[in-house]
Amino acid sequence: MRANLLDYDLEGLARFCERLGEKRFRAVQLFRWIHQRGASDFDAMTDLAKALREKLKTSALVQALPVISQHVSADGTIKWLFDVGAGDAIEAVYIPEADRGTLCVSSQAGCAVACRFCSTGHQGFSRNLTAGEIISQLWFAEHFLRKHLGRDERIISNVVMMGMGEPLQNYAELLPALRTMLDDHGYGLSRRRVTVSTSGMVPIMDRLGQDCPVALAVSLHAPQDALRDDLVPLNKKYPLDELMRACERYLAVAPRDFITFEYCMLQGVNDTPAIAQELIALLRRYGQGRAGWCKLNLIPFNPFPASGLQRSTQAAVAAFARVLNDAGIITTVRKTRGDDIDAACGQLAGEVRDRTSVMLRIDKRKAREAGHSGVATKVEILDAV
Ligand code: SF4
Repeated sequence: MRANLLDYDLEGLARFCERLGEKRFRAVQLFRWIHQRGASDFDAMTDLAKALREKLKTSALVQALPVISQHVSADGTIKWLFDVGAGDAIEAVYIPEADRGTLCVSSQAGCAVACRFCSTGHQGFSRNLTAGEIISQLWFAEHFLRKHLGRDERIISNVVMMGMGEPLQNYAELLPALRTMLDDHGYGLSRRRVTVSTSGMVPIMDRLGQDCPVALAVSLHAPQDALRDDLVPLNKKYPLDELMRACERYLAVAPRDFITFEYCMLQGVNDTPAIAQELIALLRRYGQGRAGWCKLNLIPFNPFPASGLQRSTQAAVAAFARVLNDAGIITTVRKTRGDDIDAACGQLAGEVRDRTSVMLRIDKRKAREAGHSGVATKVEILDAV
């Protein structure tokens, strides 16, 4: 079987080249062709010796995930649905802003954590993505956007591992993908601009801090164990005190001097004034008394029928944010992006989990949106980017 070179970080690629009898510096050339120039055809890699290109053709390939569909929002957000086989699909979302381009990347097909408010969690867990499948989302998005926008310079400046899955439950595959994102011969992203989001895999947070400290976001969602046990079942294994202590340890190695806490606002569940006070008390107990050790990001909930939960009102979110900010805890409210294309995590892929009718449903959806065939839809959407 040929090796998929997207699976390797630079060290892994160097070992692969050594096995082919090639010097390590060849790996740097190859890595740059793949990640910086988006090449997948070895014949296009003209500064590699012909003999090496022939060797590569028989032993390796650069295989990205097939794109099932692309949806472009009126606000410029683009969501891609990728086929990972066996009726499963994963999502990546590009969010353009004036000063940055952010790609939200998935780490697993489905998720085993089963958070109550999460559409992906309700779909159950299928499998871990390989490192190649994780980096493939960035590889595709970066080079697609460059080509489509006619630009040579980097377009994606930030990556957030906040798509489908709990990244730290797929650590062995996440790590080479992160290293490729950060590598100057790869995407050259700053550690401060690559964020791993976790629901609280405490022991792996420590490992990430040792192996590859990037920015950290923690899905908090509740200030007390009873409520968090219900919303984020992983809390039963790693309760709040353990989680907050792990955050304190991470701060010592983090590339930024704060941890971001994500907090999904659920009407009547975790958005009351009393809960806001509990949250303030919790955040003040940790961080060694340093103001600004954490930031809170309030996320308007994207309702889906199976959750039985409602989105907090705008007034409740604003009031909650005000109380936290008045207490000196920097609190922002996440802008909703791509509402018209279901850009919230798990919403499109959920449709794909119906394995018996996967392509049929996608084709129907495309046809509905375009009024004719799926292929034409794709071209039209690409033109709108
Ligand atoms: S919020 Fe994240 S960790 Fe929780 S179920 Fe969804 S994908 Fe998994």
